[in-house]
Amino acid sequence: MLILYPVTSHSVYTEINMKKAKYIFVTGGVTSSLGKGIVAASLAKLLQARGFRTTIQKFDPYINVDPGTLNPYEHGECYVTEDGAETDLDLGHYERFLNVPSSQANNVTTGRVYQTVIENERRGDYLGKTVQVIPHITDEIKRRMKILGDSGDFDIVITEIGGTVGDIESLPYVETMRQLLWEEGHENALVVHLTLIPYLSAAGELKTKPTQHSVKQLLELGVQPDILVCRTERPITAEIRRKLALFCNVQPNAVIEAMDLKTIYEAPLAMLKEKLDKVVLNKLKLSTKNEPDLDQWRDFLFKLEHPKSEVNIALVGKYVELPDAYKSINEAFIHAGASNECKVKVTYVHSEMLTIENAAKKLSGFDGVLVAPGFGHRGIEGKLEAIRYVRENNIPFFGICLGMQCAVIEFARNVCGMKGAFSTEMDAETPFPVIDLMDGQKDLTQKGGTMRLGSYECKLEKDSKALKAYGKSLITERHRHRYEFNDKYKKQIEDAGMRITGTNPKTGLAEIVEIPTHPWFVGVQFHPELKSTVATPHPLFVKFVKACLK
Ligand code: GLN
Repeated sequence: MLILYPVTSHSVYTEINMKKAKYIFVTGGVTSSLGKGIVAASLAKLLQARGFRTTIQKFDPYINVDPGTLNPYEHGECYVTEDGAETDLDLGHYERFLNVPSSQANNVTTGRVYQTVIENERRGDYLGKTVQVIPHITDEIKRRMKILGDSGDFDIVITEIGGTVGDIESLPYVETMRQLLWEEGHENALVVHLTLIPYLSAAGELKTKPTQHSVKQLLELGVQPDILVCRTERPITAEIRRKLALFCNVQPNAVIEAMDLKTIYEAPLAMLKEKLDKVVLNKLKLSTKNEPDLDQWRDFLFKLEHPKSEVNIALVGKYVELPDAYKSINEAFIHAGASNECKVKVTYVHSEMLTIENAAKKLSGFDGVLVAPGFGHRGIEGKLEAIRYVRENNIPFFGICLGMQCAVIEFARNVCGMKGAFSTEMDAETPFPVIDLMDGQKDLTQKGGTMRLGSYECKLEKDSKALKAYGKSLITERHRHRYEFNDKYKKQIEDAGMRITGTNPKTGLAEIVEIPTHPWFVGVQFHPELKSTVATPHPLFVKFVKACLK
């Protein structure tokens, strides 16, 4: 069957006739943190822009069943998908680049693989066999590697293998990849290996040996990479390209230079310049007439790099030592900034350092304040002081999840006179539990995967800032929390001037609060940052930045 589908939202069409999905694996060598996720997302963007239905999945070698139970200091932000999976933050990059929602199937951990195999074993599925890493674990990895490809929804599946080649814990993944490459055949699957070409200033040279060793390690495991993407601070000369190709056994045009960039959003264009997409399509024997349609992307990048103004926003949170903890919020500000043609300068303000005495001093000079999501008591009083300051001084405020809950607590305490008002997360004995656990959460003993997770509907009220931003009255947003606005206090709080402007139509739970007399004071129980992409910057972030510009 011949399928016709849009390359982007524009009207360019490509004829693509693929019966079976093709597989691209992305592995990493030499060190971690080289940006496999960005390379995978950039390649996916280019293939998508040529008309291929492309998805990216990540396999993480750790034993947590998902990153939901990980402290942000361990692994950065936990990204939540529409279907409520708690996933690695790289999935955020995939969605921001591709503008296609991902799902539970897009992120798999060793913990999840073992969990399934052990459940199978307990059920007796293995019929008395000894259950082993090979074939049982590798077969389960393979089944999961092929789920998206077999769904018929995608032409190309890019699989990022977390960790660094040679790690003990990633061995079963590399072995499964080897088997899949063999089963699918050379024209249907390939390996992109991302490595580092360090520059030694004492020698004045770029060094290829670490890459050679890393490829050798892959070869020992039976995998010959097809393409090398080389992270480097300096341009790779023709001589180095030839040397890498010769000693790593790849074609010279399959050595791709990946220089450090000003922003990750330049990466797809940098990869296009190096013809990564063409090399991939050639190897996979795929042809398209179209050049990739990247007009919208280029337009975004132009605005990002040519701002006409600047705003200073304070991000008040307690995980500020590790910016990855607020990855999606940062990226949402980048999208919203470009959309407003202004540079958004985000400054982290540690909530533990804010007190009633210093809040005004520490926050003066900012055009707006965002109070971040979070868990637990630490730093909470600082968040409340930040909110009191912006509320009283008419400074634009955006509260996300715990940030919204804090806005309600602050309002209850300082405007409604409910002394000691709190969330029962911080104080189980509070006389005014304005934020409380839902009944369904009260008897839970398991921590993993039991919060209110994923996409829920929200109905917006007339004459609200939220409705003005979204431009429609029924929206869906993603959640990740246990505690909720306590409806018992709704009347008291609304009578005092805080309005509930967004409600879950099924459960009646309050999802958005606003102060109509304030220039821009919006708190949301959900995580809007998770849905902001290059193609569709999030309307609340766009409007918040606009309010800060005024
Ligand atoms: N700790 C709060 C809750 O569980 C808020 C969570 C969050 O900010 N993501 O409800």
